[in-house]
Amino acid sequence: MTNFSKGFYGVVSSEIWCDPVPDKEGEYPSSEAQAEGTEENAVRFLKSAASDSPDGDLELNFVKRRTLDEQPVWPVTSSSTASPFSQEAKKLARSFGFLYDCDGVLHLGDQKIRSAKSALRLCRDHDSRYLFLTNGGGNTTEEQKAASLKKKVGIDGVDDLIGDRVIQSHTPLRKFRTQAKEDETIYITSLDPERARNIAHSYGFRNVITSTDLLEQYEHIYPFAPKHIFNSKGRALPNATKLWRGTDAMAYDAAELKNGNYLKIDHVFIFNDPRDWSLETQIIHDILASHQGYLGTLSHKNGDKSLENGGWQQDGQPKVWISNLDLLWKTEHPINRFGTGAFLHAFRGVWKESTGHELLFKYMGKPSRITYEYAHDSLLRANGAADGRTEPLRRVYMIGDNPESDVRGALEFQPEDGTEYVPILVKTGVWRQTEAERQPRWEPAVIVNDVLDAVVWAMRNEGIDVTREAVEKM
Ligand SMILES: [Mg+2]
Repeated sequence: MTNFSKGFYGVVSSEIWCDPVPDKEGEYPSSEAQAEGTEENAVRFLKSAASDSPDGDLELNFVKRRTLDEQPVWPVTSSSTASPFSQEAKKLARSFGFLYDCDGVLHLGDQKIRSAKSALRLCRDHDSRYLFLTNGGGNTTEEQKAASLKKKVGIDGVDDLIGDRVIQSHTPLRKFRTQAKEDETIYITSLDPERARNIAHSYGFRNVITSTDLLEQYEHIYPFAPKHIFNSKGRALPNATKLWRGTDAMAYDAAELKNGNYLKIDHVFIFNDPRDWSLETQIIHDILASHQGYLGTLSHKNGDKSLENGGWQQDGQPKVWISNLDLLWKTEHPINRFGTGAFLHAFRGVWKESTGHELLFKYMGKPSRITYEYAHDSLLRANGAADGRTEPLRRVYMIGDNPESDVRGALEFQPEDGTEYVPILVKTGVWRQTEAERQPRWEPAVIVNDVLDAVVWAMRNEGIDVTREAVEKM
């Protein structure tokens, strides 16, 4: 059964994506329980409609990865006891890497986690490869996030502990099809759509529009005064297009629409939770119910029971991409806060009620395969030269505070080169051991107090004889 209060003190982020779990007696929930709108029911509900497959629009055509079978350069199970920081230890450390989650692992909102800097130094000083893999990032570029992370961890200006190692939830959009970036139109929403637009531009997307642009052009698209929109000044629609307008949204001329004079939206990007849920719910619904993304029209296929999904989203409408599914996240506030996933659930509810069918959408961010693929490829290149050479890894330790995105993602990700992903859960963030939940739903290799304990545990696991006490004395 759904236990909402448990989520606020334990783990709910993306929890609804899990398969049903048996109760104490080993029974799966009854159909009556599912009909009551339980968490388990929501699981199947979403899984049938969502996709994290990197097909189609995302070109994740990574270089061929060497596997360890092709070039075994280190022992699979280390029996070494190398002294920390020795040449032998550094040689061992070439074979494994780290992915660090940020919120709840390296800091709590603006509050520092004391051991974070030591943990990063331990990696850097062993020449270990590491990256920061965060589901945050709605309104920041990777460079801005890196600068913010430096501040939150307490690193001074000259230290390269953070560098250009940040991967945010929407970073994989860099790999979007070149043709889409150049010729197609993106509708984008976030806490600050204007900043999100600028980030999309930095990824190479030329034609990006926001709700502000539409409100200026289409005065009746939203019946209420929208909430304050940041930096609000609407821009002209791309390629001098205009909105199709008709008194009957179904009485359009499909041939005329194609003449290039009318706005056609090809993709919807939800970068993070929109500031004005009501406005964005209305506009995204309009886009998904339209004929091929021409705003102002309604598809004739909507509701056609002979078609898949009752004809909804079956008429060339844009795909909806959401940059992460986290229902909750951890800040300085003592109670977990809603994340981007909460907007998706709200929108999904409206869509279901309105159409009677599931919302079809694509997602990235942890725990999606898209994001872990992107991170893995970046790790393989991390020590490579500018020519894009890669160096294989035997093992990657994912250090996170969220069982649903960090632990689950690492457990499910099995890259083709055979690299083993090992999740380590820290106690400084979202997950709290409670009477009701003694163990997280997704089981990590180990649960440790904080990020330094995590790195020490991993290094000892690899045969490097390091201790926390020794690191803290440095
Ligand atoms: Mg976190």
